Amino acid sequence: MSDSTLHIVVVGGGQAGADCVNALRQQGFSGRLSLIGDEPRLPYRRPPLSKACLLGQGTLDSLSLRPASAYEKLDVEVRTGQSVEHLDRKARQLQLLDGSQLGYDRLVLATGSRARRWTLAGGDRRNVHYLRTAEDLERLLPDWQPGRRLVIIGGGYIGLEVAAAARQHGLDVTVVESQPRLLARVAPPLLSDFYLQLHRDHGVEFALGQGVSQLLGEPDIKAVELSDGRRLDCDLVVVGIGSIPNTGLATESGLEVNDGIVVDASMQTSDASIWAIGDCCRHFNTFYQTSLRLESVPAAQEQAKVAAAAIMGKPLPVHAVPWFWSEQYDVKLQMIGQPVAEAAQVLRGDPAGADFSLCQLQDGRVVAAATVNRAQEFVALRRLVGERLPVDATVLADPDCSLKNLLPAAVA
Ligand code: FAD
Repeated sequence: MSDSTLHIVVVGGGQAGADCVNALRQQGFSGRLSLIGDEPRLPYRRPPLSKACLLGQGTLDSLSLRPASAYEKLDVEVRTGQSVEHLDRKARQLQLLDGSQLGYDRLVLATGSRARRWTLAGGDRRNVHYLRTAEDLERLLPDWQPGRRLVIIGGGYIGLEVAAAARQHGLDVTVVESQPRLLARVAPPLLSDFYLQLHRDHGVEFALGQGVSQLLGEPDIKAVELSDGRRLDCDLVVVGIGSIPNTGLATESGLEVNDGIVVDASMQTSDASIWAIGDCCRHFNTFYQTSLRLESVPAAQEQAKVAAAAIMGKPLPVHAVPWFWSEQYDVKLQMIGQPVAEAAQVLRGDPAGADFSLCQLQDGRVVAAATVNRAQEFVALRRLVGERLPVDATVLADPDCSLKNLLPAAVA
């Protein structure tokens, strides 16, 4: 599609939206291109919000994905602080918060997801925090003081990254998790145990298998009451209980939605002139041959490129095996693939030394893996999983054997 008279609008100024306008220009789109975002700033990286930013490293301005001049160079009309309120698919028109209308020929929804809120009483108090946006961080920082008592509700990645940063910053931390183990939905038990020990070694307290029955205190929350009746005194609370895809525009306009805007392998929705990418969508993943909703930077980056290629009628990049990372203390985790509960496990290295890889093996192939402070093994494992290469389990388990030996020799 090289028609320079067409107007493509991308809704959502996050990772996926910013990468999509870039990819559209790279693919040769020469028509009018608009990026509409409801946050007051240019698209920025979210991962540092729960890592470097909480350690006082890096300002919010340093998080921008690109400077304003880059969008000018790309000839992208960027509107920040402007939400799209309605989508009229028949008229191919968007209604913006300021009441103006914007027509489109092709539309990309990159509306991301939002933090799941604590809906019981007390969830809206001043010292109850979430961490999804730069504004959330700005709201949290005045409470983020050494010596304060922090209760984190939710033992997922965000909660644990906040716990790590809080301990490094000198706060007292208790993590409350309703499941009996950390990261229960997303990681194998060995990894849960590793993180539990890592955080305990840094002085984090845990209440596992415990729900929260009440947040107590007026006007600020002063204690969190657990389902067993115990009370945890606190000065602030961070809620990290997952996120919800922003599907409102899609739902109200009758697009197919099922825990995410449903799209095919080319990121196209049930409307041939609309695509959806990033956290807000559930796409047909060609690697797994099933529908998935992924919430990670690499997924947003990849989907932006796929949608741009599809819109431009170019060959589609293939879906790579999903991966992402997390940083807690001096531990860098890299996860490849979707963990499989029934897979055999091969451990390389030593969890006690925070230096290991955990591979999940099925039918002679590594189907998923986690590397902890082993970047080199991550590179090899990403290929082993992504290319579904057969492996010899005894070689895989041999700590003296480099994983490179399991890769096919490069063709000269
Ligand atoms: P978003 O980044 O959420 O962007 C969507 C944008 O659209 C938002 O600005 C939203 O306000 C806007 N929007 C929504 N509706 C409208 C509307 N109607 N009109 C206009 N604008 C709208 N991933 C990793 O891989 N590794 C990590 O270590 C990691 N750490 C993270 C730490 C934190 C604290 C958070 C919050 C996320 C982290 N992630 C991490 C996840 C990663 O940041 C997301 O998967 C990624 O940002 C998704 O990009 P996106 O563009 O789809 O959505």
